[in-house]
Amino acid sequence: MNKASKETAAPPVPAGNFIRTLIESDLAARKDAQRRWSGRPGLAEQHLAGGIDPARIRTRFPPEPNGYLHFGHAKSICLNFGLARDYGGRCHLRFDDTNPEREEKEFVDSIVESVRWLGFSWDADGEENLYLASDDFDAMARCADYLIDTNHAYVDSQSAEEMRANRGTLTEAGKDSPYRERSPEENRALFQRMRAGEFPDGAQVLRAKIDMASPNINLRDPVLYRIRHTAHHNTGELWRVYPMYTFAHPIEDALENITHSICTLEFEDQRPFYDWLLERLAEGGLIQRPAPRQIEFSRLNLSCVVLSKRKLIQLVEEKHVDGWDDPRMPTLVGARRRGYTPEGFHLFAERIGVSKSDTLIDYSVLEDCMREVLNTSDERRIAVLDPLRLVIDNYPENASEDCFAPNHPLKPELGKRALPFGRELWIERDDFMEAPAKGFHRLYPGNTARLRYAYVVKCTGIEKDENGRVSTVHCDYMPDSKSGTPGADTYKCKGNLHWVSTREAHPAIVRLYDRLFSVASPGADGRNFIDDINAASVACVTAQIEPALAAAEPEARFQFERHGYFIADRFDSKPGAPVFNRTVTLRDSWGKKR
Ligand code: ATP
Ligand code: MG
Repeated sequence: MNKASKETAAPPVPAGNFIRTLIESDLAARKDAQRRWSGRPGLAEQHLAGGIDPARIRTRFPPEPNGYLHFGHAKSICLNFGLARDYGGRCHLRFDDTNPEREEKEFVDSIVESVRWLGFSWDADGEENLYLASDDFDAMARCADYLIDTNHAYVDSQSAEEMRANRGTLTEAGKDSPYRERSPEENRALFQRMRAGEFPDGAQVLRAKIDMASPNINLRDPVLYRIRHTAHHNTGELWRVYPMYTFAHPIEDALENITHSICTLEFEDQRPFYDWLLERLAEGGLIQRPAPRQIEFSRLNLSCVVLSKRKLIQLVEEKHVDGWDDPRMPTLVGARRRGYTPEGFHLFAERIGVSKSDTLIDYSVLEDCMREVLNTSDERRIAVLDPLRLVIDNYPENASEDCFAPNHPLKPELGKRALPFGRELWIERDDFMEAPAKGFHRLYPGNTARLRYAYVVKCTGIEKDENGRVSTVHCDYMPDSKSGTPGADTYKCKGNLHWVSTREAHPAIVRLYDRLFSVASPGADGRNFIDDINAASVACVTAQIEPALAAAEPEARFQFERHGYFIADRFDSKPGAPVFNRTVTLRDSWGKKR
C-alpha cells in the first residue's frame, strides 16, 4: 500500500444517531451487564458456566456467502464494527450459511478479505469471533424440539399450494391448518422422521404456532424448518432439514450474545416474530435474558449504481463488466482496484449517517469522501494523458537540467523530486489550441504560458501531420523565467501547464474510469437497467509519465497533477511497466460533460 496513505486524518468523530442513543441508554441502564459468555456461541447452559461477558455490547455483520460485498455492505460493516469499537464491544463476522443450495467458499474468502481490507477485525483478547451459522444447527434443532414440546410448533403436512391458499392476505385472516392441533408427541415423532430423511423435499414443514389471524402475516404460523435433501458445504449430509432464515437468525444472535442486532428496514415486520421466538426460548431457559434486540435502519441507496446482488451477478455473467473486481463495479473488490480507500468508506459511512428514512445518496458524496482522503494521502506526480510534442527551439540541443516539484503541497516534509527538463517535452493536447476559443488562456500561437516548475514559453509556430492534426508546437523559452528564481515573478501568464521531457518519459497504460451507469436510478420507470450502462465508463490511453512513476509498485497511489487520483493496478501493473486506474477526477465534472 502507498506509504503516505497511512498518514490520513484521524478517524472522524462519530456523530450521534438514533442507534447510538439507544445503545447509550442501554449501557446507562446496565441492561446487558449481567450476561455471561463462555467464549463461543452457545445455549444458556453453556454461557452460564462462563464469566460475565467482557464485551459491553456485541454486534454482528451477517452476510450470506452468496456474492461479493458491495458498497451497501460497507455501510453496515462500518456501522456494526464502528459501534463495537466505540462502546467497548465486539463485532462478530457471521456467515449466514443456513441455505444449503447457495453458498460458496469463494465468496467466504472474499468477504473475509474485504472486511479486513476495510480495517476491521473480529479477533479481540483471544476471541476469534468468526462464526458459521451452520455450526449451530444442533442448538437450533434443540430450540425447535423445545417449541414442539411446549406446543408452540407443529408439523404441517399441507402442500405448498394449500399453505399459500390458507395464508390469507393483507386484508383477510388466514385459515388454520388441519394439522395444527397435532399433539406434541405426534409432532416430535414427525419432526424426528423429517430429520431422519424419511420424507421427500416439501412433504412436511415445521411451523410456529402463533396466530393465523394476525394482521402481521409474518406471525401467521411461519415456517421454521423445511426438508432439503441437499449436501451443505459445512455439515455435509448430516442434515435433511434446514432452518429458515427468520428462525435461524434470532437464535444465532442469542447464541452469540449479540446485544444489538442491526438490520435493514425490510426486516421491521419480522421484529414481532424475532421477539416472540426469543421470548419463548428465554422462558424455557434455552437462552439468556435479556434477549438480543433488533434495530432497523435504512439501507444505502446510491445514485448511478446498482446494489442488488441479483443485478451485480447479471453484470458479471453477461460480461458487461470484467468480473466482480472490475474497477467500475460497486463491490469492495472493485473499489479496491479502482483506488477507493478504506478511510474514504469510513468517512462516507460517517457522513451519510444512519436513519430510518429512505433516501438516494448522490454518488458525488462518495467521490468527495475519496477525494478528501486522497488529497491528504497521495503524493503528486506528473502524467501527460494525451501527449502532444512541444519543441523549445532556443533551448540548447542535448542540454538538460533538473526542475524541482514538491511531492505534496500540504506536506513540505515530503520534500521535492527532480523533473528532468529538456528541449523536447510532452504537453497535454488540450492545453494547446491553434485558434483559441474565448477564455482559453493556455498555449496558442503568440501566447505565453508557464511550464510549471520550469520556464515561461511563447508559442512561435506549429507543425501538422498529413491529416491536418497538430503534431508539434514550437516555442521559445525565457531563460530568466525559471520557477523559484528571482526573475520568475516578472512574467505574468494565466496558463500553467504540466509536462514531461520526451527523453526521460515512460509510456504507461492509463484506464480512465467513469460511472458505470449514466442515470441516477438505473432501471427506473420500467427500463432494463442494462440499457442504462454508461457507454463511456472506461477509456484506455497510453500516457507519458515522469520517470519517478515508472517504478510504481502495485497499489501505489498518486495524484496526477491537474487530472485526479490514480492507483497502479494491483494485478496488471508491474514496476517498470505500470498500469494505472483513475480512481476519481480532481473535481466533480459529472453532468457538466453532457
Ligand atoms: P442484497 O440485497 O444485495 O442481496 P443482502 O441483504 O441479501 O443484500 P446479505 O449478505 O444478506 O445481503 O447482507 C449482509 C448484511 O448487509 C445484512 O445485515 C444487510 O442488512 C446488510 N446490507 C445489505 N445491503 C445493504 C445496503 N444496501 N445498505 C446497508 N446495509 C446493507
Ligand atoms: Mg440477505
